[in-house]
Amino acid sequence: MTTPQPTPRESAGRSEPLFTAEQRLQRALDAGGIGLWEYDPEWRVLHGSAATDADDPRLRQVRMGLDDFIARIRPDQRDGVLKALHDALDRGIAAYTTYEVERPDGQIRWIQAHLYPERDGGEAVRRIIAITRDVSDLQHALQAQEQLLDAATKARDTAERTVMARNNFISSTVHDLRTPMTSIRGRAQLLTRRVRRMTLPEDEQATLLEGLAQIELGIDHMNALLGDLQDAAFLQMGRPLELRPAPTSLAELVEGVVAEIIPLYPAHQFDVAAAADLPDLQIDPTRMRRVVTNLLINAAKYSPEGSRVAIRLARDGDAMVLQIRDEGIGIPAAELDRIFERFYRASNAPQTNEGSGIGLAGVRQIVRQHGGEVAVISHVGAGSTFTVRLPISTSTEG
Ligand code: ADP
Repeated sequence: MTTPQPTPRESAGRSEPLFTAEQRLQRALDAGGIGLWEYDPEWRVLHGSAATDADDPRLRQVRMGLDDFIARIRPDQRDGVLKALHDALDRGIAAYTTYEVERPDGQIRWIQAHLYPERDGGEAVRRIIAITRDVSDLQHALQAQEQLLDAATKARDTAERTVMARNNFISSTVHDLRTPMTSIRGRAQLLTRRVRRMTLPEDEQATLLEGLAQIELGIDHMNALLGDLQDAAFLQMGRPLELRPAPTSLAELVEGVVAEIIPLYPAHQFDVAAAADLPDLQIDPTRMRRVVTNLLINAAKYSPEGSRVAIRLARDGDAMVLQIRDEGIGIPAAELDRIFERFYRASNAPQTNEGSGIGLAGVRQIVRQHGGEVAVISHVGAGSTFTVRLPISTSTEG
């Protein structure tokens, strides 16, 4: 960058300014990386200084005809630049344009230009003053950001399409498998009735009945597994589950889940406090077990070994309230609403922690299908409290 040298002045004892006004202006332009040129419509030439930090005078000085200037601009942007010149020149209004231009050294730069009309006494536009800035770095950063965003959006779309296709496939396979299973079960029940009526040696009849009972049990187990698979696919797609409500003690359900989870997280301390005489709820026990399991596993998974998970169950007016409090990593305030979205994982969730971001979306869907609501309060580093409220006179919707 050339620094203007002070112009020596003859001084007769007076203190003279160190720089001329023009030199001062040039310094300011250099410091701000700003170019300043004029366009003279009569001669159709541009001249002045370019927006560049290069020292090469060829790059710093602008002196060229309008056609040469336009020829250096990216072809699809030429009309935009000509329109801005036209606005300033013929309509007398300030104009703004951004363009990619080839510098004399062959480098491509992005330039932002503000064009101002300068009038003569008779109000006709005499020339245009252009103030320019080289914004190549900013433009490149923006382009890189756009490409990243684009790639991320495409990856997400592809993943969602794949997940949807897989879930549709699972759903229809489960449906297809159920039909033969129902018929096997029906046959086994029919045979059981027949064998009971037959006069057979006692131990032979017992063996046959035992075998048929095993087949029925096996089918029930398979049906339960298929049901789980179907639920997982439906929850991932956000489709409602077909609930099978039955009078259920939520306290017993919670204690059952805690008993299953303790061996998985032996270093955690699980405390259950359930109020006495709680009424049964009309809920789908299998699906509600899934809700409680998910919340308890999260509480343990996102908190350190040795910490406490407190589970409270109480009645609050017409609602049953289940609260699960942990002393774990917590959830950033800005993300609290998002953790219930499908596939969303909070930014502080350790990569090493297994998870898909689908659990809480399923929890919310199941609770809502029961006419209830789930909420969370959390502080990073201090822990989280998830609260499920279920109406006691629960009316369930499919
Ligand atoms: P994941 O399979 O990732 O655990 P979830 O849907 O169950 O999916 O939870 C979504 C996200 O919410 C998690 O990835 C985690 O970031 C956050 N989260 C859920 N429960 C807790 C908790 N008890 N403590 C801290 N973060 C939690």
